[in-house]
Amino acid sequence: MAKRYDVIVVGGGPGGLMAAKTAAEDGLKVLLLEQKNNPSRINRSCLQIFYLEWVCPDGYIETVKTEVSQEKTKFIFPGPGFSIDYTGILRPYTNAIWISPSEYKVSPFKNKLFGFYYDKEAFLAGLLTEAEKAGVEVMTGTPAMVAENTSDGVKVFARAKSVEKTFEAKKAIAADGVMSKIVESLGLNEKRKVFSQIPGGGGTSCVVDGMECDIPGHETAWLSLNIPSIGKTGIGLMGEQGKFMRYESIETLSKIPRYAKWFRNITVAKTKRMGMGAITVRTPLRDPVAGNVVAIGDAAAPVEVWIQGAVACGYQVAKATVKELNGQSGYTEYTKWWQKAVYCNSPGYFKRIVTHHLIDQICSDEDVDYIFKLFQDKSVVPTLELARNPEIISKDNPALYEKMTKGLEQVMKQIEPVLATYPPGSDVFEPDAYLKRWRPYIVPDINLK
Ligand SMILES: Cc1cc2nc3c(=O)[nH]c(=O)nc-3n(C[C@H](O)[C@H](O)[C@H](O)COP(=O)(O)OP(=O)(O)OC[C@H]3O[C@@H](n4cnc5c(N)ncnc54)[C@H](O)[C@@H]3O)c2cc1C
Repeated sequence: MAKRYDVIVVGGGPGGLMAAKTAAEDGLKVLLLEQKNNPSRINRSCLQIFYLEWVCPDGYIETVKTEVSQEKTKFIFPGPGFSIDYTGILRPYTNAIWISPSEYKVSPFKNKLFGFYYDKEAFLAGLLTEAEKAGVEVMTGTPAMVAENTSDGVKVFARAKSVEKTFEAKKAIAADGVMSKIVESLGLNEKRKVFSQIPGGGGTSCVVDGMECDIPGHETAWLSLNIPSIGKTGIGLMGEQGKFMRYESIETLSKIPRYAKWFRNITVAKTKRMGMGAITVRTPLRDPVAGNVVAIGDAAAPVEVWIQGAVACGYQVAKATVKELNGQSGYTEYTKWWQKAVYCNSPGYFKRIVTHHLIDQICSDEDVDYIFKLFQDKSVVPTLELARNPEIISKDNPALYEKMTKGLEQVMKQIEPVLATYPPGSDVFEPDAYLKRWRPYIVPDINLK
C-alpha cells in the first residue's frame, strides 16, 4: 500500500521549508516535493535584505527583530512567536540613498538601521538541514503539477525523472511560489483579478569588488540611481565588502563619464544569472484554503510576501495543520492571520504600488531632478509625498503638476476593478496599531477634484 503522509508540502523555498520543518518538529509525517535538485540554490532575483523597516510596506507587515551575537544571528518573529538561527554573512543597511540625474538626494532611512543583507542560500540551507533533522522526507528534482482533494485527504501528482508519481496525504501545503501550479490546478486563480503581466527576463546579478563610489555614506547604503533616460539602477551590499548590482547596469553606467570612474578598477567577483519567469500579477488569495490544501507565501500573493513573510506563513500554516488534524479549526485562524499580517490583503497595497511607481512612468530626467530637489535630504518617499499633496507644486511647476494629477487619476482608475475585489473594511491599517507605524507610507484615498 502506498505510503500516506500527514502533510505534503510542495515547494522548498523559505515558506515550504519552514512549513515542513515546523510540521515535522510537531510530530507530523511530512513529504517535501521540490522541483530543483538543490533546494537552497536560488535562481530567482532577490535583493536578500532582511527588512526591519520598509521604504514602503509591501510583504509581511508584522514586527520582526534581530539579535546578533558573534556566533549567530537570530531572526525573531514576535507575532507568531518563533525565531530562526542563521550563521551566514550579515551586513547592516543604515541608509537608503536615492539619487536624481543631477544628484539631488533623498534618504528615506537616513542613519537608521532598516535591515540587513543576508545570504539567502545560506539561510535556506540552514532551514533544509533542520527540516531533514526533524524527519522531513525531501524529494528533490520532483515538480508537482496537480493537487486533487479527496473525501478524506489529498492526492498530489508529480514527476520525478520523467516518471509520473502520485502521493497521498491528509493535508497539503502549496508553497510553490508566485506562479503556483498547485493553486492553478485547484481552480483558485479563476476568482482572482489580473492586475498586470510582468514579462519574464532578468539579467545577471554580480558582486563587484573595488568600486570607487564617491557618494558619502554608500558603504552601508542601498543606492538607487533614478535616471529615466537610462533606466533605474539599484546598487546593494553583498558578501564581505562587495557591492551587488546587475552586470548590465555596469555596462550602461560605464559609458557615462560621471559614473565611469566608479568602475575603472573593479573586479567582478561572482556573476550569477538570476532572472524571473513571466509573472501574472493577480489579486491575492484572501481565502487561501481549498478543501485540504492551503496556499502560502508567494503562491497566494500578487508577487512577493518577502522571505520573512514566507517563513511566517510556513510556521503559521504548520501550526494550523496540526490543529486541523486534531479536529480544531486551524485553517480559519490561519486565514484571519494571513489577511492581517501580509499587506497585499489590504487595498492600500495596490494604491501604494501604482503611486510609488508613477515617477518611473511619467517623469523625465528634469522632472526627477525637480522632485528630488524639492525633498532634498528629507526622509520621505517623493511620489507618495506628492500624491498626498500635489498642490505644493501647482504654482511653481504647473506642467509637472498636471502630469502628476492626470497620472494619478489614470492609475487610480486602472486599479478600480482590483480594489473592488476587496471586501469593505479590509484595509488592515485603518483600525489598528499599524496605522501609527506606517502613516508616512500609506497612500491616502486620493481625492482629485
Ligand atoms: C527582484 C526581487 C527581489 C526580492 N528581494 C527580496 C529581498 O530583498 N528580501 C526579501 O525578503 N524578499 C525579497 N524578494 C521576495 C522573496 O524572494 C519571495 O517573496 C520569497 O522567496 C517567497 O518565498 P516562497 O517560499 O513563498 O516562494 P519561492 O521563494 O518562490 O519558493 C518556491 C519554491 O517552490 C519550488 N517550486 C516551484 N514550482 C514547483 C513545483 N511545481 N513543484 C515543486 N516545487 C516547485 C521552487 O523551485 C522554489 O524552491 C524579492 C523578489 C524579487 C522578485
